[in-house]
Amino acid sequence: MCGVFGVFNALHAEKYIFYGIYALQHRGQEGVGLAVSDFEDIKVVKKPGLVLEAIKKEDLEAVKGYSGIAHVRYSTAGDAGDQNFQPILRETPLGKVAVVHNGNLVNYLPLRAELESKGVSFFHTSDSELFLALLGQGELLPEGIQFHPSDRELLPALFYVLSRVKGAYSLLYLFKDRLVAARDPMGFRPLLLGRLRETFLFASESCAFDILQAETWRELKPGEVLVVDAQGMRSYFPFRSEKKSMCIFELVYFSKPESFVFDSWVYRARRRMGELLAYEDDVSADVVVPVPDSGLVPAIGYAQVRGLPLELGLIRNHYVGRSFIEPTQELRDVKVLMKLNPNRAVLEGKRVVVVDDSLVRGTTSKKIVSMLRRAGAKEVHMRIASPPVIGPCYYGIDTPTREELIANRMELEEIREFIGADSLRYLSLESLHSVVESPQDFCDACFSNCYPLEVEGTALRMR
Ligand code: SF4
Repeated sequence: MCGVFGVFNALHAEKYIFYGIYALQHRGQEGVGLAVSDFEDIKVVKKPGLVLEAIKKEDLEAVKGYSGIAHVRYSTAGDAGDQNFQPILRETPLGKVAVVHNGNLVNYLPLRAELESKGVSFFHTSDSELFLALLGQGELLPEGIQFHPSDRELLPALFYVLSRVKGAYSLLYLFKDRLVAARDPMGFRPLLLGRLRETFLFASESCAFDILQAETWRELKPGEVLVVDAQGMRSYFPFRSEKKSMCIFELVYFSKPESFVFDSWVYRARRRMGELLAYEDDVSADVVVPVPDSGLVPAIGYAQVRGLPLELGLIRNHYVGRSFIEPTQELRDVKVLMKLNPNRAVLEGKRVVVVDDSLVRGTTSKKIVSMLRRAGAKEVHMRIASPPVIGPCYYGIDTPTREELIANRMELEEIREFIGADSLRYLSLESLHSVVESPQDFCDACFSNCYPLEVEGTALRMR
């Protein structure tokens, strides 16, 4: 998870990144950070908690400038301590630089050990620090790359960094006088470019441009490095783009439904998942109930195909965050009960199809089924708009360990029994593939157990 946002060439860049990162709050709720440059210095503010609560007016006053980057954190690598909030700021041989990163590096530990053996110090336990620690450690001049004169010093050092790290990264570097955006050659995580008159914007999802009434310009391509400074914007492709592996879970759950990522409208993809789930189903029911919020869009598709009414049988309390992205099981349990309330007016005496986006541990589904029954549902049929999650993610999503994944331990009928539903069905992997235009360009490892990229020290079945 994690969300990143950046702006270049804006009066009060701090306000742009504040609103932009607020629109990405769903991607991380542990902490928020902003780094702003006034072209002479870079200042950083980092706080635990939600954007609106954590960042005060005085914080924005303290980081005024013309360009900036921001981050909302959900810990996927390193512990969840405050010192791992981003942006990370560091003095490097290229001057003061801040970085924000969405993704996960698969060769963090050996690379860190190598650098430490050379005397490089680390101040964080997050893999993202490598993007700064490696700056100035070497240079790389890929053949055939023509540098713009103002990039001649910076890019060989930057290309060296990117040639050493392996894994998922959509990242933004803030230098005093420029901003650099980069997406890994496999394109695991989204990163988009937006525009508002002369101002350049970068975001994990297009919904962050909407809040600023900015235009979504385009998505960075896998392997693309974009440099923006007073001379304008330049695009580079330093490495041969490897097999693309865009995260299909972004379309299933992570991205907001109104966002445009991976050249797809998330809403359309998610609605289609519900439609396909319905085509594969023939259960008799009276009503379709979405698990809010992420089950809503597939439930719309499902209900329409089945010709069943869609009703709000579960009401969400909007003052509580997403349960999936709480770091401990105890907190997740409490949050499910705080978050959802059954609506007896819809449920009493009804045969209910309840639609959710995914089923990971099974604990949330179990609570939902019993909640629906307590509120009078006669039958509860659980429908999941994605295939069973059978593998952990090593590329930037904090899915549980293999042992915690219920579909890894139990057969379909056992899971049904565990959650207490009358029936249970998942979307098939083939149907999920059919939602996107080029399924071969997507990572689906958590559903297929076939991984696109090796992970140091972990035996995986490779695609
Ligand atoms: S393993 Fe799953 S969550 Fe991780 S990148 Fe692949 S599809 Fe996305």
